[in-house]
Amino acid sequence: MTSEPAANLHDFAPAHLERVLRETVSPPFRVKQIAEWMHVHGAGSFDAMTNLPKDVRADLASRFTIAFPEVLERTEPAADRSQKYLFKLADGNRIESVYMPMGDRTSVCLSSQAGCAVGCTFCVTGFFGAGRNLTPSEMLGQFFTIQHEHQVPKELMNVVFMGMGEPLLNLEHLATTLDILYLTIAPKRITVSTAGIIPGIDELSRMSRRPNLAISINAPDRKRREEIMPITKKYPLDELIASLKRYPTERGREITAEYVLLAGYNDSPQDAVALAKLLRGVEAKVNAIPFNADPNLPDWMKRPSDAAIDRFVDTLVKSGMPVTVRRSKGREIAAACGQLRGKTEARSRASRQRELAESGVDRARGMKSAGVERDAVHRERR
Ligand code: SAH
Ligand code: SF4
Repeated sequence: MTSEPAANLHDFAPAHLERVLRETVSPPFRVKQIAEWMHVHGAGSFDAMTNLPKDVRADLASRFTIAFPEVLERTEPAADRSQKYLFKLADGNRIESVYMPMGDRTSVCLSSQAGCAVGCTFCVTGFFGAGRNLTPSEMLGQFFTIQHEHQVPKELMNVVFMGMGEPLLNLEHLATTLDILYLTIAPKRITVSTAGIIPGIDELSRMSRRPNLAISINAPDRKRREEIMPITKKYPLDELIASLKRYPTERGREITAEYVLLAGYNDSPQDAVALAKLLRGVEAKVNAIPFNADPNLPDWMKRPSDAAIDRFVDTLVKSGMPVTVRRSKGREIAAACGQLRGKTEARSRASRQRELAESGVDRARGMKSAGVERDAVHRERR
């Protein structure tokens, strides 16, 4: 007979945790102590709770777990000290996160799913296909592990959900994770990036505490967006833009429009003008991300030259659109999420393409980057 695995208390929303602990421990002040160990200190074991009597810790450990995913691999720090982490989940799935020191502040890029069903053609995670939703403990585990290892004060941290997966297809667990992060990190320090799941964007917009929204636009028109982001067929570009216009933004918290620059495809000055026009009426700034190449991705996809990137950015600025560029020197450490796992995955591009051909899908699929360089900011002087 196999017994059910113990529940992970890091999967419980704060109010749920309190209820469960009230039924389990006494006196009542212990409940607060334990919650603080978990949510403020990010404890990954009951043994870490040193001000708790040993028998209380042992009793908790006999009923529950608070374990985080295990670190399988860390890349050597890149020139900018960024590091990529590969985690192993309890069921053997592997996910990636990135530590990105940026001046005074530090960002961590978290995965929300162990794969992605959205299938953008330029993204390695999409290339490897769907994976299950991550639980709150798996998302929080990425965050706390990196925060502990680098001893970053939480008030100096930004959190971005731009790793593997589509966070708005995992909204329930994302909401619990956000509620826990909000206990120590302000919503304006947290960004959720989406490929454009409109019902998810609307749901986020109704939350009383909202993270920043980043939207992967990646193309200046519907036709090209359908080519590289097939999800556009389900959630059309004009409806997506309308949902962005509905998203409430406070001062200084514009929406980030991410735009992967592919040489000769979407990087011309005309494309920049079209992008600025598309985003007219949206409180947005553009984050241009030069494409990050990977052997699993279609050969025609190339990073534009620096001159082409500059031309694109200058045209955007002239069109009145604030823009940051993610210069991706962090490529040395495989700065793209999905790449580190992809390197060791026993699945070749050829076999994936065969599979796609058999299933009637004739597109090669891509990978994704979470470029790690400090962004260069360009803004029109007004
Ligand atoms: N699923 C969400 C969040 C993860 S992808 C989303 O799509 O927004 C995070 C970012 O990486 C997206 O903006 C995506 O466009 C970008 N990206 C994916 N593959 C890339 C690649 N090969 N090179 C550069 N950026 C890439
Ligand atoms: Fe999924 Fe985002 Fe990659 Fe598209 S870019 S396949 S939505 S992870």
